[in-house]
Amino acid sequence: MLEYQAILEEIEKEIKPYLGEGRVASYIPELARVEPNIFAMSVMCIDGRSFHVGAYEKRFSIQSISKLFTLTMAMRLVDEALWKRIGKEPSGSAFNSLVQLEYENGIPRNPFINAGALVITDVILSQLQDAQQSVLEFIRTLANKDDINFDFSVAKSEAQTGFRNHAMANFLKSFNNLNHDPARVLNAYFHHCSIAMNTQELAKAGLFLAHKGIQPWIDMPILSARQTKRINALMLTCGTYDSVGDFAYRVGLPAKSGVGGGILATLPGKFSVCVWSPRLNDKGNSYAGTKALELFTTKTKLSIF
Ligand code: GLU
Repeated sequence: MLEYQAILEEIEKEIKPYLGEGRVASYIPELARVEPNIFAMSVMCIDGRSFHVGAYEKRFSIQSISKLFTLTMAMRLVDEALWKRIGKEPSGSAFNSLVQLEYENGIPRNPFINAGALVITDVILSQLQDAQQSVLEFIRTLANKDDINFDFSVAKSEAQTGFRNHAMANFLKSFNNLNHDPARVLNAYFHHCSIAMNTQELAKAGLFLAHKGIQPWIDMPILSARQTKRINALMLTCGTYDSVGDFAYRVGLPAKSGVGGGILATLPGKFSVCVWSPRLNDKGNSYAGTKALELFTTKTKLSIF
């Protein structure tokens, strides 16, 4: 049997020289308050075993990793109808780009760029009337932790400074691709991004993606096997910003990253793995986190390829 714990401890040592590389996201001022050189990594196997190193109990801002959970909710609610309003191709541009949205008539390239996530939030609002609390409750259920919460200071900080997201929501509305008031959609979206979790909780919450849609320990079907395949495919092709090719080349796992420095990845049939280190590379992925995942798939010889 693979010695996951020993491998994680090796990675924790080998990663140390990289912890000072890259920069913490500061365009949301509250995010810049994080301790920059911290590292955590958690592996959850579908057979119930789990392994951790570093600051795996310390919560951080999940930011765009929330897009994984909002997409899951939207697929549960409307399934394939989603794709009338959102594409499923890599964008080849920045996660907050407006240009592409203009010449593609307000249809976001995929659900993992900001424009796509705003449309997803709008879909959840149409179905449930409350896109803020319902997403939080869903994540609490998936992670089996009732005290997971929004970080209201991060949500407020982004609401005050996220001018590009404000522009994007209004832009989507001008193309009739939002049914609700842009301010209402943005408020829910900023709260989703502000949710604070640790690597242990995120790996647990995402485990159904490695188990054909069933959350193993509660035996609860979250998605069908077909839907789970689709989300993993989108993670592989669109989940790590505009360096998704390089990430797949180096790591070889479907993954979703966030500007808080977290990355949640899966190996279907085996495990979920979450890593956190706040300094980002120039494409917005955790610098040390990407390196740690690369070391992990190299050392374990496990990847989807
Ligand atoms: N709340 C962030 C934004 O919309 C999320 C960015 C990210 O993690 O990719 O800019």
